[in-house]
Order: sequence, then C-alpha cells, then structure tokens
Amino acid sequence: MSVRVRIAPSPTGNLHIGTARTAVFNWLYARHHNGTFILRIEDTDLERSRPEFTQNILDGLQWLGLQWDEGPIFQSDRLDLYRPKIQELLDKGLAYRAYETPAELDAMRESQKTKGEAPRYNNGHRHLTPEQQAAYEAEGRTAVIRFKIDDDREIVWHDLVRGEISWKGRDLGGDMVIARAASQQDIGQPLYNFVVVVDDIDMAITHVIRGEDHIGNTPKQILLYEALGAKVPEFGHTPLILNQQGAKLSKRDGVTSISDFQQMGYIAPALANYMTLLGWTPPDATQEIFTLPEAATQFGFERVNKAGAKFDWDKLNWLNSQYLHHVPVPELTDLLLPYWHAAGYAFDPTGDRPWLEQTTALISQSLARLDDCVAMTRYLFVPEVGFSEDALKKLKQDGSKEIVQAIAAALPTVESLTEETSQALIKQVAQALGRKEGQLKPILRVALTGETKGPDLIQSWLLLHHHGWDTTRLQTAIDATQA
Ligand code: GLU
Repeated sequence: MSVRVRIAPSPTGNLHIGTARTAVFNWLYARHHNGTFILRIEDTDLERSRPEFTQNILDGLQWLGLQWDEGPIFQSDRLDLYRPKIQELLDKGLAYRAYETPAELDAMRESQKTKGEAPRYNNGHRHLTPEQQAAYEAEGRTAVIRFKIDDDREIVWHDLVRGEISWKGRDLGGDMVIARAASQQDIGQPLYNFVVVVDDIDMAITHVIRGEDHIGNTPKQILLYEALGAKVPEFGHTPLILNQQGAKLSKRDGVTSISDFQQMGYIAPALANYMTLLGWTPPDATQEIFTLPEAATQFGFERVNKAGAKFDWDKLNWLNSQYLHHVPVPELTDLLLPYWHAAGYAFDPTGDRPWLEQTTALISQSLARLDDCVAMTRYLFVPEVGFSEDALKKLKQDGSKEIVQAIAAALPTVESLTEETSQALIKQVAQALGRKEGQLKPILRVALTGETKGPDLIQSWLLLHHHGWDTTRLQTAIDATQA
C-alpha cells in the first residue's frame, strides 16, 4: 500500500506557521515512503474563504519547497460528491433530519448548564415520524442532518504520535450535525467533519497527519468511516506550536503567517529547516542543519514529540544566519535589493551593481535576517548620517580632531584609493602624528560612519569613497569636534 497524505488548509487566512509545519511533516512522511502528497483546499465556508488566501497558501507552500503531487483540489467543486453520501447515511438509517430551532438548542444548553451537565444535543429528534417532520417543515423550520452517535460506543485508535487514544461515544456531544439548512427535499450544506471524511476516502488517504487541535474530531470521523463502509486510515496528531509562555502561538505573538516570515527576511530553506525541528528530533539529535530532502530520508513519527513545540526566535535567527552566510554574493544581493529599495535608499540596480555586491559581501557574514541589511548599511546609502552619542564622545576626545584633520589632508594626495593605499595612508598619518594605527582606526571609523562599531572599516571607506562621501564626512567630523 503506498502512502497517500494530504494537507488540507482552509483559505480563511494566510498560510499559518502551524499549517505549514503540518505540511512539512506530511511532505516528509510522503517523501520518506515514496508516497503522494496532496493539497486540498477546504473552502466550504464560503463566507470566510477568499481567493487571495488560497493564493497565499499556494505561494507559501511552493516557496518553502513543499511541492504537492496532486491538487489543489477544492472542496467547493465537489458538492456533488458529498450529497449522495449523506443520502446514503439517511437511507441506511444512520442519519436523520432534526428540526430544533437555534433558540430551542440554546435553551437545551442552558438547562444542561444549570444542572451542571456538559452541553450536548439530547438526540431529541432521532425518532421523528415522517408526519412530525412534515409538520415542522410546514411550520417553516429548516432542518439539519444529524449523524447518530451511540453513547455506549468506545472509539479507540492508535495515534502515530500519541499512542493509544480512546473516546467514549457519550463524550462527543450527542448526534452530530453533518449538513445544515436541509429540508425534506434537500441535503443542504455538508459540514467540515463529514466532507473531510468523504474526501479522505475518495482520495484514498492512508495517513491523516494534522494538528493536535483536531484530536476531538477524530473519533467522530472514525464513526463516519465505519458508517460509510470505508477503511479507517492511520491518524497522527502533531504537537501545537507554543509561544515562550507556553500558550498556543497566535497573532498576538506577532508574525504567524509564512508570508510575514518571508517579508522579515527569513529564507525558505532556513524556515523549512526550523519548522522540521518544531516537534521532530532527528536520529542524530546534534544535527540541526539539513534540507527537507535530507530530513525526509530520516523522518518518522517515532521521533515526533507529544509535547507542544516552543517557538524559539533565537534558534530561528541562528539557523537563518547559517543559511544566509552560505548564499553566494550575487544571489544574496538580489535578495537584499527589495529591502534597500523599501527603505527608500537611492541606487541604480544596474549601474551600481558592483558597488551593491561589494556592500553585500561586506555584511553577508553578519546578517541574521535579510532585513538587517537596512540598518547595517544605512551609512553607505545615505550621504549624511550624523553621529551616535558614543561616536560624538570619541570625536571630542583630545587628539581626535588632529587625527581626522591629518587623514583629510592626506586623502587628496592618494591617486586611487584601494585597500593598499588606504592602509598605507593610515600608516603614514600614524607615523607623522607619533601614534599607533590602532589609535587612529576607531576615530576614522567614527568620522566615516557616525558609529563606534560596524562592518570592516577599510571596505566601508572604499564604498563611501565611490560616492566621494568620505571627504565630506571627514569635514563634518572635524566640525563636530568643535561643536
Ligand atoms: N481544514 C482543516 C484546518 O485547516 C484541516 C483538516 C484536516 O487536516 O483534517 O485546520
């Protein structure tokens, strides 16, 4: 039997990190077993589903490298498949039309609450006669279709992640609604738990791998498989992603969608690598950096943790930096251009290309995220930068003015500023002033960049010299020593 798994996002929002991580586990499992990974878009909630969310989900999965083998299959195209299956359950006497109004259901729940009972449907319309049904319809009531759940049933499955799980039928809330807005002539709108099962049967899904938040649906779905005479697949419920406080990661924790991470400058292989580690431990637990295909060779549910996976920004940043440090400079430049552009920095992508690549090379080993490039290179893109507090303090120290003046005076005598000639100039000025080069360089850095720390000084100087900004910066620094 070949493995067939699916990711089944609802397009009611952008691709969420939790869904993406579930997609990663499905993809890894499929690839490990040479199986099939299917994408199904669960868009039966017409009010909340939007095409732009579908597009965001498709783009995000593709960007992460989670290419699907079949799909996307849209549930909204498949209503003709679901309705006969509901009819089948009605015909078998396993489902029925129920006519309680929302107010009656509310009252039922209220009275259960006052008695200290768990809210559930009391199965009150399970045995209506056709005449009673007709009378309700004549009153103008619309029905729901409910699937019978035997209170005395025990539903047990062996979860791939959590081991044996068992539920009692009586804990499932009474006979469950599988379609809404039905009438005696019509099936109405089939609902989530039902269409998922029909689809999973139709697509011959062998392993349902999904978030732990779906555990409560699984016993209901198992009963539906049985009622439809289908083989029950394996189930694996993956741990939730938690924030640092141990609560489920939510919008309140800032970014949660894959496109947010993308925009912040995480790159796909790093984010995919990180998500793989959110709940899975490789056989060699010290191995932290791997591609998805590499992880797929080792992936199995025996190493997926039961406990929630804490989202760790430091670890993600570290992984991202490891990947960024290996991106070749031309490619990295292409990745940085949009960030510089969005920051409003002026440059000519073609004419300035060599300069841009040198700038990239200068910071490539310090980047944790692509968007770090904005702050790191501001002094190279903007003619005037001002001085930080520490920088100004340094400039006002005794002797600083003399150093900057001497460098400014020597600069025009250099025919062409290169790594060698700039080093030689520093040496020559140091000798002339009877100082060490190590005393000159921090002052020169402050004068040129406005900061006491930053990327390589000589390379920064050369990049500034390209625009002739070094001369003006030195002059500004001399003025600042007097201010
Ligand atoms: N559509 C469901 C969701 O987005 C997934 C259902 C499933 O995997 O069975 O959470």
